Amino acid sequence: MINKAKYNCIKELNKKGAPVVIVAVTQEIEAIINACNENGIKVEGLSDNETRKVNKKIKGLDVIHTTSLPKKFPKARLIIAYHNIQEIVDQLTSMGYEDFYSPLEILKNYDVSKHEHNLSQSYIKNKILISVKSHEAYFDESLVHLRSLDIVITTKCSMKCESCANLMQYYTSPQNTDDKILTAVDNLNKNVDEISEFRIIGGEPLVNKNWHKIVNGVAEQDSNHKIFVYTNGTIPVKDDILKSFHGKNINFYITDYGKLSLNIDKLEQSLKSHKINYYRRPVGNWVDCSSIRKHNRSPKDNAIMFKECCAKQFYTLLSGKLYTCPFISNAYELKAIPNNPMDYVDLLENNENLRGKIKRLVKMEKFFPGCDYCDGRPYDPTTAKVYDGKGLIVAGKQTQSPMPFKKIET
Ligand code: SF4
Ligand code: SF4
Repeated sequence: MINKAKYNCIKELNKKGAPVVIVAVTQEIEAIINACNENGIKVEGLSDNETRKVNKKIKGLDVIHTTSLPKKFPKARLIIAYHNIQEIVDQLTSMGYEDFYSPLEILKNYDVSKHEHNLSQSYIKNKILISVKSHEAYFDESLVHLRSLDIVITTKCSMKCESCANLMQYYTSPQNTDDKILTAVDNLNKNVDEISEFRIIGGEPLVNKNWHKIVNGVAEQDSNHKIFVYTNGTIPVKDDILKSFHGKNINFYITDYGKLSLNIDKLEQSLKSHKINYYRRPVGNWVDCSSIRKHNRSPKDNAIMFKECCAKQFYTLLSGKLYTCPFISNAYELKAIPNNPMDYVDLLENNENLRGKIKRLVKMEKFFPGCDYCDGRPYDPTTAKVYDGKGLIVAGKQTQSPMPFKKIET
Protein backbone atom coordinates (compact mmCIF):
# COMPACT_ATOMS: atom_id res chain seq x y z
CA MET A 1 0.00 0.00 0.00
CA ILE A 2 1.27 3.46 -0.84
CA ASN A 3 0.66 5.88 2.01
CA LYS A 4 0.13 9.50 1.06
CA ALA A 5 0.23 12.68 3.11
CA LYS A 6 -3.16 14.28 3.68
CA TYR A 7 -4.08 17.87 2.99
CA ASN A 8 -6.68 18.57 5.67
CA CYS A 9 -4.43 18.83 8.69
CA ILE A 10 -6.32 21.49 10.69
CA LYS A 11 -9.46 19.46 11.31
CA GLU A 12 -7.66 16.14 11.76
CA LEU A 13 -4.87 17.37 14.02
CA ASN A 14 -7.24 19.26 16.29
CA LYS A 15 -8.90 15.96 17.19
CA LYS A 16 -7.60 14.03 20.16
CA GLY A 17 -5.05 11.44 19.12
CA ALA A 18 -1.39 10.47 18.93
CA PRO A 19 1.23 13.21 19.47
CA VAL A 20 1.90 15.56 16.56
CA VAL A 21 5.51 15.70 15.34
CA ILE A 22 6.94 17.81 12.52
CA VAL A 23 9.45 15.92 10.37
CA ALA A 24 12.29 17.92 8.72
CA VAL A 25 13.81 21.07 10.12
CA THR A 26 13.57 23.24 7.04
CA GLN A 27 14.40 26.95 6.99
CA GLU A 28 10.69 27.74 7.38
CA ILE A 29 10.29 25.49 10.43
CA GLU A 30 9.54 28.40 12.79
CA ALA A 31 6.69 29.47 10.54
CA ILE A 32 5.26 25.94 10.48
CA ILE A 33 5.36 25.76 14.29
CA ASN A 34 3.69 29.19 14.52
CA ALA A 35 1.06 28.16 12.00
CA CYS A 36 0.33 25.01 14.02
CA ASN A 37 -0.06 27.06 17.22
CA GLU A 38 -2.31 29.55 15.48
CA ASN A 39 -4.57 26.73 14.24
CA GLY A 40 -4.78 24.98 17.61
CA ILE A 41 -2.45 22.12 16.65
CA LYS A 42 -0.27 21.11 19.59
CA VAL A 43 3.18 20.05 18.37
CA GLU A 44 5.10 17.70 20.68
CA GLY A 45 8.43 17.42 18.87
CA LEU A 46 10.56 17.80 15.75
CA SER A 47 12.75 15.37 13.84
CA ASP A 48 15.29 15.45 11.03
CA ASN A 49 17.42 12.98 9.10
CA GLU A 50 20.51 15.17 9.26
CA THR A 51 22.71 14.67 12.30
CA ARG A 52 23.84 18.33 12.29
CA LYS A 53 20.25 19.44 12.91
CA VAL A 54 19.45 17.23 15.91
CA ASN A 55 19.89 17.58 19.68
CA LYS A 56 18.78 21.21 19.51
CA LYS A 57 15.68 23.04 20.61
CA ILE A 58 13.57 25.15 18.30
CA LYS A 59 10.82 27.21 19.89
CA GLY A 60 11.13 25.01 22.97
CA LEU A 61 10.72 21.76 21.00
CA ASP A 62 13.42 19.06 20.96
CA VAL A 63 14.80 18.03 17.57
CA ILE A 64 15.54 14.30 17.49
CA HIS A 65 16.94 12.14 14.71
CA THR A 66 14.13 10.73 12.57
CA THR A 67 15.40 7.19 13.10
CA SER A 68 14.89 7.73 16.87
CA LEU A 69 11.22 8.64 16.45
CA PRO A 70 9.80 5.18 17.35
CA LYS A 71 11.62 5.27 20.71
CA LYS A 72 10.15 8.61 21.78
CA PHE A 73 6.90 8.56 19.81
CA PRO A 74 5.84 4.94 19.12
CA LYS A 75 2.58 6.36 17.75
CA ALA A 76 2.52 9.77 16.09
CA ARG A 77 0.73 11.98 13.61
CA LEU A 78 3.44 13.38 11.39
CA ILE A 79 3.53 16.70 9.56
CA ILE A 80 6.01 16.44 6.70
CA ALA A 81 7.78 19.76 6.26
CA TYR A 82 10.31 18.48 3.72
CA HIS A 83 9.81 19.41 0.05
CA ASN A 84 10.15 15.82 -1.16
CA ILE A 85 7.15 14.66 0.85
CA GLN A 86 6.70 11.17 -0.54
CA GLU A 87 10.33 10.29 0.16
CA ILE A 88 9.83 10.99 3.87
CA VAL A 89 6.42 9.31 3.87
CA ASP A 90 8.04 6.16 2.42
CA GLN A 91 10.79 6.24 5.06
CA LEU A 92 8.30 6.69 7.91
CA THR A 93 5.97 4.03 6.48
CA SER A 94 8.86 1.55 6.58
CA MET A 95 9.26 2.48 10.27
CA GLY A 96 5.62 1.55 10.95
CA TYR A 97 3.91 4.98 10.84
CA GLU A 98 0.81 5.58 8.77
CA ASP A 99 -0.65 9.00 9.57
CA PHE A 100 0.93 11.80 7.50
CA TYR A 101 -0.01 15.42 6.79
CA SER A 102 1.25 18.19 4.55
CA PRO A 103 1.53 21.64 6.18
CA LEU A 104 0.10 23.17 2.98
CA GLU A 105 -3.29 24.01 4.48
CA ILE A 106 -1.79 25.98 7.37
CA LEU A 107 1.01 27.60 5.36
CA LYS A 108 -1.26 28.94 2.64
CA ASN A 109 -2.96 31.29 5.09
CA TYR A 110 0.10 32.10 7.17
CA ASP A 111 0.67 35.83 7.56
CA VAL A 112 4.42 36.39 8.05
CA SER A 113 3.90 39.96 9.28
CA LYS A 114 1.96 38.74 12.33
CA HIS A 115 4.89 36.72 13.68
CA GLU A 116 8.54 37.12 14.59
CA HIS A 117 11.20 34.90 13.02
CA ASN A 118 14.94 34.50 13.36
CA LEU A 119 15.35 34.93 9.62
CA SER A 120 14.32 38.22 8.00
CA GLN A 121 10.61 38.56 7.25
CA SER A 122 11.03 38.69 3.48
CA TYR A 123 13.50 35.76 3.46
CA ILE A 124 11.06 33.59 5.42
CA LYS A 125 8.20 34.74 3.18
CA ASN A 126 10.14 33.46 0.14
CA LYS A 127 10.85 30.16 1.86
CA ILE A 128 7.16 29.70 2.68
CA LEU A 129 6.11 30.46 -0.90
CA ILE A 130 8.66 27.91 -2.15
CA SER A 131 7.41 25.32 0.33
CA VAL A 132 3.78 25.97 -0.67
CA LYS A 133 4.64 25.40 -4.35
CA SER A 134 6.40 22.09 -3.56
CA HIS A 135 3.43 20.84 -1.56
CA GLU A 136 0.95 21.96 -4.22
CA ALA A 137 2.95 19.98 -6.78
CA TYR A 138 2.74 16.96 -4.47
CA PHE A 139 -1.05 17.05 -4.67
CA ASP A 140 -1.06 17.59 -8.47
CA GLU A 141 1.18 14.99 -10.09
CA SER A 142 0.62 16.37 -13.58
CA LEU A 143 2.77 19.41 -12.73
CA VAL A 144 6.42 19.55 -13.74
CA HIS A 145 7.84 21.33 -10.74
CA LEU A 146 11.45 22.08 -9.83
CA ARG A 147 11.75 23.18 -6.24
CA SER A 148 15.12 24.68 -7.11
CA LEU A 149 17.48 25.09 -10.03
CA ASP A 150 21.23 25.44 -9.45
CA ILE A 151 22.59 27.63 -12.25
CA VAL A 152 26.34 27.07 -12.46
CA ILE A 153 27.83 30.30 -13.77
CA THR A 154 31.47 29.35 -13.25
CA THR A 155 33.59 26.37 -12.31
CA LYS A 156 36.21 28.74 -10.84
CA CYS A 157 36.32 29.10 -7.07
CA SER A 158 38.18 31.43 -4.73
CA MET A 159 38.65 28.40 -2.48
CA LYS A 160 39.63 24.84 -3.32
CA CYS A 161 37.93 22.51 -0.88
CA GLU A 162 39.34 19.04 -1.38
CA SER A 163 35.94 17.46 -0.68
CA CYS A 164 33.76 19.93 -2.60
CA ALA A 165 30.49 18.14 -3.36
CA ASN A 166 30.32 20.13 -6.61
CA LEU A 167 33.69 18.67 -7.68
CA MET A 168 35.49 22.01 -8.10
CA GLN A 169 38.70 20.44 -6.72
CA TYR A 170 39.14 18.48 -9.95
CA TYR A 171 39.04 21.32 -12.48
CA THR A 172 42.45 22.12 -13.99
CA SER A 173 41.04 24.79 -16.36
CA PRO A 174 37.92 26.15 -14.69
CA GLN A 175 35.74 28.37 -16.87
CA ASN A 176 32.99 30.96 -16.63
CA THR A 177 29.73 30.13 -18.30
CA ASP A 178 28.90 31.67 -21.68
CA ASP A 179 26.01 33.97 -22.51
CA LYS A 180 23.78 31.08 -23.61
CA ILE A 181 22.96 30.46 -19.95
CA LEU A 182 19.99 32.82 -20.06
CA THR A 183 18.65 31.13 -23.20
CA ALA A 184 18.89 27.77 -21.45
CA VAL A 185 17.05 29.14 -18.36
CA ASP A 186 14.36 30.60 -20.61
CA ASN A 187 13.93 27.32 -22.53
CA LEU A 188 13.61 25.45 -19.26
CA ASN A 189 11.08 27.92 -17.87
CA LYS A 190 8.89 27.59 -20.94
CA ASN A 191 8.72 23.83 -20.56
CA VAL A 192 7.94 23.40 -16.85
CA ASP A 193 5.11 24.60 -14.63
CA GLU A 194 7.22 26.05 -11.87
CA ILE A 195 10.79 26.64 -10.75
CA SER A 196 10.41 27.88 -7.18
CA GLU A 197 13.97 28.97 -6.52
CA PHE A 198 16.87 29.94 -8.83
CA ARG A 199 20.22 29.41 -7.14
CA ILE A 200 23.21 31.14 -8.69
CA ILE A 201 26.21 28.98 -7.86
CA GLY A 202 29.74 28.06 -8.93
CA GLY A 203 32.42 27.37 -7.80
CA GLU A 204 32.19 30.83 -6.34
CA PRO A 205 29.71 32.72 -8.54
CA LEU A 206 31.16 36.13 -7.67
CA VAL A 207 34.40 35.13 -9.40
CA ASN A 208 32.59 35.46 -12.73
CA LYS A 209 32.85 39.19 -13.45
CA ASN A 210 29.48 39.05 -15.23
CA TRP A 211 27.73 37.36 -12.31
CA HIS A 212 25.46 40.34 -11.57
CA LYS A 213 24.39 40.58 -15.24
CA ILE A 214 23.32 36.93 -15.15
CA VAL A 215 21.51 37.46 -11.83
CA ASN A 216 19.72 40.52 -13.21
CA GLY A 217 19.01 38.63 -16.44
CA VAL A 218 17.26 35.80 -14.57
CA ALA A 219 15.36 38.36 -12.45
CA GLU A 220 14.24 40.29 -15.51
CA GLN A 221 12.94 37.19 -17.30
CA ASP A 222 10.07 37.15 -14.80
CA SER A 223 9.49 39.42 -11.80
CA ASN A 224 8.21 36.37 -9.84
CA HIS A 225 11.61 34.69 -9.95
CA LYS A 226 13.11 34.14 -6.52
CA ILE A 227 16.89 34.19 -6.77
CA PHE A 228 19.45 33.06 -4.21
CA VAL A 229 23.13 33.80 -4.76
CA TYR A 230 25.26 31.17 -3.02
CA THR A 231 28.61 32.60 -1.94
CA ASN A 232 31.50 31.64 0.33
CA GLY A 233 32.02 35.18 1.67
CA THR A 234 35.47 35.68 0.14
CA ILE A 235 34.52 38.46 -2.27
CA PRO A 236 32.91 41.81 -1.38
CA VAL A 237 30.24 43.30 -3.63
CA LYS A 238 30.28 46.86 -4.92
CA ASP A 239 27.44 49.23 -4.07
CA ASP A 240 26.44 49.91 -7.67
CA ILE A 241 25.91 46.18 -8.22
CA LEU A 242 23.75 45.88 -5.13
CA LYS A 243 21.82 48.97 -6.23
CA SER A 244 20.96 47.19 -9.49
CA PHE A 245 19.25 44.47 -7.38
CA HIS A 246 16.86 46.88 -5.65
CA GLY A 247 13.20 45.99 -6.15
CA LYS A 248 14.03 42.45 -7.32
CA ASN A 249 13.63 39.24 -5.37
CA ILE A 250 17.37 38.61 -5.03
CA ASN A 251 18.68 36.99 -1.82
CA PHE A 252 22.07 35.80 -0.66
CA TYR A 253 22.97 32.52 1.01
CA ILE A 254 26.39 32.91 2.61
CA THR A 255 28.36 29.92 3.86
CA ASP A 256 30.67 30.98 6.67
CA TYR A 257 34.04 29.18 6.41
CA GLY A 258 35.52 31.12 9.35
CA LYS A 259 38.88 32.68 8.58
CA LEU A 260 38.70 31.50 4.96
CA SER A 261 35.63 33.68 4.33
CA LEU A 262 37.85 36.73 4.14
CA ASN A 263 35.21 39.34 3.30
CA ILE A 264 32.13 37.89 4.94
CA ASP A 265 31.56 40.73 7.43
CA LYS A 266 32.03 43.35 4.75
CA LEU A 267 29.60 41.51 2.48
CA GLU A 268 27.07 41.20 5.30
CA GLN A 269 27.31 44.94 6.02
CA SER A 270 26.80 45.83 2.35
CA LEU A 271 23.75 43.56 2.09
CA LYS A 272 22.33 45.06 5.28
CA SER A 273 22.80 48.61 4.08
CA HIS A 274 21.06 47.78 0.78
CA LYS A 275 18.29 45.89 2.62
CA ILE A 276 19.01 42.75 0.63
CA ASN A 277 17.92 39.50 2.29
CA TYR A 278 20.59 37.06 3.27
CA TYR A 279 21.12 33.96 5.34
CA ARG A 280 24.56 33.35 6.89
CA ARG A 281 25.23 29.80 7.90
CA PRO A 282 28.32 28.24 9.50
CA VAL A 283 29.73 25.56 7.23
CA GLY A 284 29.40 22.67 9.75
CA ASN A 285 30.35 19.15 8.71
CA TRP A 286 29.91 17.57 5.30
CA VAL A 287 28.95 14.11 4.17
CA ASP A 288 31.86 12.89 2.04
CA CYS A 289 30.55 12.42 -1.52
CA SER A 290 33.16 13.73 -3.95
CA SER A 291 35.10 10.68 -5.16
CA ILE A 292 34.54 9.76 -8.80
CA ARG A 293 34.94 6.06 -9.48
CA LYS A 294 32.99 3.30 -11.15
CA HIS A 295 31.31 1.00 -8.65
CA ASN A 296 29.60 -1.58 -10.87
CA ARG A 297 26.75 -1.85 -8.38
CA SER A 298 23.69 -3.91 -9.09
CA PRO A 299 20.65 -1.93 -10.33
CA LYS A 300 19.01 -2.74 -6.99
CA ASP A 301 21.86 -1.17 -5.00
CA ASN A 302 21.99 1.90 -7.24
CA ALA A 303 18.24 2.31 -6.74
CA ILE A 304 18.64 2.12 -2.94
CA MET A 305 21.49 4.64 -3.03
CA PHE A 306 19.42 6.99 -5.21
CA LYS A 307 16.46 6.73 -2.85
CA GLU A 308 18.72 7.60 0.09
CA CYS A 309 20.38 10.51 -1.73
CA CYS A 310 19.71 14.02 -0.43
CA ALA A 311 20.91 15.68 -3.64
CA LYS A 312 18.82 13.93 -6.29
CA GLN A 313 16.58 16.96 -6.71
CA PHE A 314 19.36 19.55 -6.74
CA TYR A 315 18.56 20.15 -10.41
CA THR A 316 21.61 21.68 -11.99
CA LEU A 317 22.07 23.68 -15.18
CA LEU A 318 25.60 23.53 -16.53
CA SER A 319 26.76 24.31 -20.08
CA GLY A 320 23.21 24.29 -21.43
CA LYS A 321 22.28 20.91 -19.96
CA LEU A 322 19.88 20.10 -17.15
CA TYR A 323 21.00 17.39 -14.72
CA THR A 324 19.48 15.99 -11.56
CA CYS A 325 22.42 16.78 -9.27
CA PRO A 326 25.78 18.57 -9.00
CA PHE A 327 27.74 15.31 -9.04
CA ILE A 328 26.59 14.09 -12.46
CA SER A 329 26.69 17.58 -13.98
CA ASN A 330 30.28 18.30 -12.98
CA ALA A 331 31.51 14.74 -13.51
CA TYR A 332 30.11 15.04 -17.03
CA GLU A 333 31.70 18.48 -17.55
CA LEU A 334 35.04 17.07 -16.35
CA LYS A 335 34.64 14.13 -18.76
CA ALA A 336 35.01 11.82 -15.79
CA ILE A 337 31.95 9.77 -16.72
CA PRO A 338 30.85 8.55 -20.13
CA ASN A 339 28.35 10.56 -22.16
CA ASN A 340 24.95 9.02 -21.61
CA PRO A 341 21.93 11.09 -22.77
CA MET A 342 19.87 9.39 -20.04
CA ASP A 343 21.81 11.51 -17.52
CA TYR A 344 20.67 14.94 -18.78
CA VAL A 345 18.44 17.04 -21.00
CA ASP A 346 20.10 19.36 -23.51
CA LEU A 347 18.15 22.63 -23.23
CA LEU A 348 19.81 24.26 -26.21
CA GLU A 349 19.21 21.66 -28.84
CA ASN A 350 16.19 22.08 -31.11
CA ASN A 351 13.81 19.69 -29.46
CA GLU A 352 10.13 19.10 -30.08
CA ASN A 353 9.51 17.18 -26.89
CA LEU A 354 11.53 19.18 -24.37
CA ARG A 355 8.78 19.11 -21.72
CA GLY A 356 8.53 15.32 -21.97
CA LYS A 357 12.28 14.90 -21.58
CA ILE A 358 12.42 17.29 -18.63
CA LYS A 359 9.50 15.48 -17.01
CA ARG A 360 11.35 12.16 -17.31
CA LEU A 361 14.42 13.63 -15.61
CA VAL A 362 12.53 15.47 -12.87
CA LYS A 363 10.27 12.56 -11.99
CA MET A 364 12.99 9.88 -12.06
CA GLU A 365 12.39 7.31 -9.31
CA LYS A 366 15.08 4.70 -10.05
CA PHE A 367 18.56 6.14 -10.64
CA PHE A 368 20.68 7.66 -13.41
CA PRO A 369 23.57 5.88 -15.18
CA GLY A 370 25.97 8.46 -13.66
CA CYS A 371 24.99 7.36 -10.13
CA ASP A 372 27.20 4.30 -10.52
CA TYR A 373 30.24 6.63 -10.46
CA CYS A 374 29.15 8.30 -7.21
CA ASP A 375 29.77 7.17 -3.63
CA GLY A 376 26.28 8.33 -2.67
CA ARG A 377 25.14 11.39 -0.75
CA PRO A 378 22.83 10.19 2.01
CA TYR A 379 21.10 12.42 4.56
CA ASP A 380 22.71 10.36 7.26
CA PRO A 381 25.79 8.29 6.35
CA THR A 382 25.58 6.26 9.58
CA THR A 383 22.24 4.72 8.66
CA ALA A 384 22.55 4.57 4.83
CA LYS A 385 22.24 1.09 3.35
CA VAL A 386 24.29 1.80 0.21
CA TYR A 387 27.06 4.35 0.61
CA ASP A 388 30.77 4.15 -0.24
CA GLY A 389 32.10 7.45 1.12
CA LYS A 390 33.97 8.24 4.34
CA GLY A 391 30.95 9.51 6.30
CA LEU A 392 30.95 12.88 8.05
CA ILE A 393 34.09 14.91 7.32
CA VAL A 394 35.46 18.30 8.33
CA ALA A 395 34.25 20.88 5.83
CA GLY A 396 36.41 23.30 3.89
CA LYS A 397 39.80 21.57 4.06
CA GLN A 398 41.83 23.15 1.25
CA THR A 399 43.93 21.51 -1.45
CA GLN A 400 46.89 23.33 -3.01
CA SER A 401 46.49 21.93 -6.48
CA PRO A 402 43.72 20.24 -8.47
CA MET A 403 42.95 16.71 -7.33
CA PRO A 404 43.66 13.86 -9.75
CA PHE A 405 40.85 11.84 -11.34
CA LYS A 406 40.53 9.41 -14.22
CA LYS A 407 39.23 10.92 -17.45
CA ILE A 408 37.01 8.85 -19.69
CA GLU A 409 38.78 7.96 -22.90
CA THR A 410 36.79 9.04 -25.95
S1 SF4 B 1 33.90 27.12 -1.50
FE1 SF4 B 1 34.58 25.01 -1.43
S2 SF4 B 1 32.67 23.85 -1.38
FE2 SF4 B 1 32.14 25.89 -2.09
S3 SF4 B 1 32.24 25.75 -4.32
FE3 SF4 B 1 34.24 26.46 -3.63
S4 SF4 B 1 35.47 24.63 -3.47
FE4 SF4 B 1 33.31 23.99 -3.53
S1 SF4 C 1 24.96 10.76 -8.70
FE1 SF4 C 1 23.04 9.83 -7.95
S2 SF4 C 1 23.50 9.24 -5.85
FE2 SF4 C 1 25.12 10.66 -6.48
S3 SF4 C 1 24.45 12.66 -5.81
FE3 SF4 C 1 23.71 12.40 -7.90
S4 SF4 C 1 21.63 11.55 -7.71
FE4 SF4 C 1 22.66 11.30 -5.74
